[in-house]
Amino acid sequence: MKKIVIIGAGIVGICTAVELINRGFSVTVIDPHEPGSQTSYGNAGVLTDTSLMIINNPQLLKSLFSLIFKKNTSFRYSKLFVFSRLSWVINFLMFSKRKHMEIAAKVLRELQVLSLKTHKKLINKTKSNNNIVSPGWLKVFKTPLSFEKYTYELNILDKNKAEYTVLNTAEIKKLFPDLQFKYYKGVLFKNSLRVKSPIELSRTYFKNFIKSGGNFYKEICKDIKFINGNWTVFLDKNKKIFDEVIICTGPWSKDFLSNLGYKIPLAWERGYHHQFSTKKDIDISPAIHDVDGGFVFSCNKNKVRITSGVELNFRKAASNDEQINDVVKKLKTILPLKNKLTKTPWLGSRPTIADSLPIIGKAPKHKNLWFNFGHNHIGLSTSAGSGVVLADMIQNKKTSINIDPFLPNRFIL
Ligand SMILES: Cc1cc2nc3c(=O)[nH]c(=O)nc-3n(C[C@H](O)[C@H](O)[C@H](O)COP(=O)(O)OP(=O)(O)OC[C@H]3O[C@@H](n4cnc5c(N)ncnc54)[C@H](O)[C@@H]3O)c2cc1C
Repeated sequence: MKKIVIIGAGIVGICTAVELINRGFSVTVIDPHEPGSQTSYGNAGVLTDTSLMIINNPQLLKSLFSLIFKKNTSFRYSKLFVFSRLSWVINFLMFSKRKHMEIAAKVLRELQVLSLKTHKKLINKTKSNNNIVSPGWLKVFKTPLSFEKYTYELNILDKNKAEYTVLNTAEIKKLFPDLQFKYYKGVLFKNSLRVKSPIELSRTYFKNFIKSGGNFYKEICKDIKFINGNWTVFLDKNKKIFDEVIICTGPWSKDFLSNLGYKIPLAWERGYHHQFSTKKDIDISPAIHDVDGGFVFSCNKNKVRITSGVELNFRKAASNDEQINDVVKKLKTILPLKNKLTKTPWLGSRPTIADSLPIIGKAPKHKNLWFNFGHNHIGLSTSAGSGVVLADMIQNKKTSINIDPFLPNRFIL
């Protein structure tokens, strides 16, 4: 039986581990942290097959001037970061072409449909249904103008046969009566789910992996070396030998792979969350994206989580609470928030590849080395599907979806 090691126990590593153990491999996961406790901890919990529009699309170029020069809540950037990573930024912007956006939407739709189906199976298998809200994803628009702008994305959804329902003010209010603001329109994604506690989902999936015979070393992997036809994995004090290695180190992937001579075009779209109690009892809600405000919020009984938009910055740069504090002010006009439940905002770094697609597949320069990282804004949604296609590739099987645009060799790494 092939011995496979997965470096990184975020939701991507966990789903990959679950898939491979179910296919009969001997699987070990290595991570110094509790599984699911890093980027995968603090997300908005959206599990969807409709996040098709990549950030670097032609619309981005149109709004570039205002994004750079006007203060807005959905986007912040560090000038130092932009200058020091100018080649990544230019590369990212170069992908903002209609053709690339359309290809990306098509392959992301296939990956997300597969992923949502796989998540639904895992949710049933691990009896995680009480951690799920359905429908789970609603976008709301304050003005006719912002809804009009969104028709661009609706066309992409239509082209890729993604299902949604447009709601009017009364229908939004009926769906979630606690909203104090009368939104002009909403777009509800009925097939999508919301995970109430992303860390709890990671924990239950991971328990299932261990129950199925998986191994876990709660240690940092310092290095990996291909020696005499096998991979030697260097831990803090000892080393272990494996047949195949899969890198699922999310935002750390660029640093980790530089040791092996790879130049990964990865940067960090950082994002924050805060949690609040509420002044009165409020109902459970889907994840609600206030498109004009540039934030996502969701309610579990009397508890609200709000996540911010994008901050382009170094992964290790100090936290800058301004952006999340600004959107909290906006949320206070929409929901009766009471006390902060998070002392300081949680901060995570979405791992983003220059073309806004994850890197999934065989490493170009090494034998028996595989990549699965770079899932940016949608890693919870795409994790389970990426595990399936990677397992197919390892078994040399034909994948059920087109994976060419995800393969590492699309870049010279
Ligand atoms: C504010 C915010 C909101 C989001 N909302 C959503 C959403 O609603 N829906 C959605 O689909 N996605 C969402 N995302 C994106 C999603 O959270 C990420 O894409 C996803 O969590 C990435 O998972 P990962 O497993 O690749 O990375 P991580 O969860 O960061 O896991 C990587 C793991 O690698 C480990 N590691 C690193 N280096 C080493 C090493 N040397 N040795 C061993 N282990 C190592 C780390 O400890 C970590 O545990 C959001 C992200 C943010 C920041």
